[in-house]
Amino acid sequence: MGGIFINVSDVIEYLFCPRFIYFIYCLCIPQHEEKRYKVLKGRELHEIKKKINKNYLRKKLNCVKKEDSIYLSSEKYHIKGEVDQVLFLEDGTAAPFDYKFAEFKKTTYRTHKFQSILYGLMIKEVYNTEVNRGFVCYIRSNNQVKEVKFRDYDFEKAIRMINEILTIIQKGFYPKKTSYNMRCVDCCYRRICV
Ligand code: SF4
Repeated sequence: MGGIFINVSDVIEYLFCPRFIYFIYCLCIPQHEEKRYKVLKGRELHEIKKKINKNYLRKKLNCVKKEDSIYLSSEKYHIKGEVDQVLFLEDGTAAPFDYKFAEFKKTTYRTHKFQSILYGLMIKEVYNTEVNRGFVCYIRSNNQVKEVKFRDYDFEKAIRMINEILTIIQKGFYPKKTSYNMRCVDCCYRRICV
């Protein structure tokens, strides 16, 4: 498989529709759309991080140490990405902590959940430590922090998705459509997607 690495953001695209990967990587047609998710940058994120202060992390999440803006990569799983924070918890495990410019609506979004799982997968490997949960901070819901539990099958599913993405890119495999037809309505690839 060589030294190919996909980004965590590729998995988010794949979750939206597997064909995005084909059009972007195999046909080299970039998206003509704003990203569907907002990425927080620089100062904005810094200000919010200050609000979610050390006391909160220590008291509510039993965090004993944290590292900011960590670039992670895994040769084993062929994935890379930058996580907002890695928390080291009192029970000896580590956990990704991710900020989202979004509201929390009843459950954690599937994309946010899998993003957290992918960071968890890489943290396990890079820090050689157990990772069984992650945290997502919803900025537009008054910085609510939600815990995402990671089960073995979550990691297995994430690895399967990575492998499916690699197959599309490396073998030019044309994947199935998204099962949510509504997503096709304003998709930038709808004219070429058959
Ligand atoms: S038109 Fe629909 S199936 Fe095709 S790429 Fe867009 S979302 Fe996916």
